[in-house]
Amino acid sequence: MENALDRFLRYVKIDTQSDDTSEATPSAEKELDLSRLLLHELHELGIKAELDEYGRVYGWLPGEKGLPTIGLNSHVDTALEISGANVRPQIIENYDGGVIRLNDEFSMDPHRFPRLKNHIGDSLVVTSGDTLLGGDDKAGDAIIMAVLDYLVHHPHIKHHPIAILFTPDEEIGRGPEHFNREKFGAEWGYTIDWAEPNFIECENFNAAHADIHIQGASIHPGEAKDKMINAARLAGEFDALLPAKDRPEKTEMREGFNHLTFVTGEVEKAELHYIIRNHDRHLLEKQKEEFHKAARVLEERHPGAVVSVKIEDDYRNMKEVLDADPRALEHAEKAFRSLGIKPVYNPIRGGTDGATFSFLGCPCPNLGTGSYHHHGRYEFLSLRDFNQMIEIVKALVVLE
Ligand SMILES: [Zn+2]
Repeated sequence: MENALDRFLRYVKIDTQSDDTSEATPSAEKELDLSRLLLHELHELGIKAELDEYGRVYGWLPGEKGLPTIGLNSHVDTALEISGANVRPQIIENYDGGVIRLNDEFSMDPHRFPRLKNHIGDSLVVTSGDTLLGGDDKAGDAIIMAVLDYLVHHPHIKHHPIAILFTPDEEIGRGPEHFNREKFGAEWGYTIDWAEPNFIECENFNAAHADIHIQGASIHPGEAKDKMINAARLAGEFDALLPAKDRPEKTEMREGFNHLTFVTGEVEKAELHYIIRNHDRHLLEKQKEEFHKAARVLEERHPGAVVSVKIEDDYRNMKEVLDADPRALEHAEKAFRSLGIKPVYNPIRGGTDGATFSFLGCPCPNLGTGSYHHHGRYEFLSLRDFNQMIEIVKALVVLE
């Protein structure tokens, strides 16, 4: 059996950053470097596995007959915000609670990053200050592989049949594309992709996006009186017509928001782009209505202006599915309790691939990995929490 940390350190050294400008699948060829390695390692363990034409690795470990197949999913790619090339992880044993120097320029001070205070005495894997670490989600990959390694080397231990799925392109929102529910074959599953080991994430936002186009009227400013309609100015007015309380910087927990992500404008025309989020689908619909209302008000105020609003839905809150089929949650609750852990049900203020899997017929809440401060140079892995997650995933699949 291989040490799980060694696995993690091997995976993070492979650059697998996805590419949001690419139309290819997977978006970046280099993501396959890790997918192929995982395929090879599954085969080495004697686990039936394949890499499909879309760069997804599927694997199947048979278990006790008559028991439901449990799915385990994680992603191979890393975030776009900062490079994942030449990751040089550093290990801090028995962390003393002090400032962690990453390199000459960057350090992690527990005053600025208070989470570190939870990890005194823990062993941490940190970056060299130049890249991200890639714990999101190579910690998830390593946890799943460590559990499979354990089961293969302890054949007397009875467990559920397990279906495995490693996806590319999660960071650019394309992870669940080409998901083959039938091939995967799990009755329900767990995405191992985020942070705290005692969290079960079973709610996420309902998501939509809005594109607003404002047509103004340009005319020489010297003769503009009662004729000019300055679309750039109307863009600001449009935004001001939306409820000011519904902004990301004013909301938390299950409160929804409209987030203005992009605006461009000149006299003749202006465009605004928003993402719209709410855990409650009815409230999301109300938020959408505010956009149409703002457009009507703007057109009334400025005769001649044309304000068009185009709204499309993106993903949905998996709670809907998990409420209808609570087996994944009940099963997880039992596994956590068997280890003496009281799970915390945390609403995700974002999306998760598990939401899409859920709506495609495989209910799939999200679990942690023990890695923190994702998508940046301050990312770190807590060895204590990572090992705890391995025990939790074992408890999910092993029979009591
Ligand atoms: Zn992730």
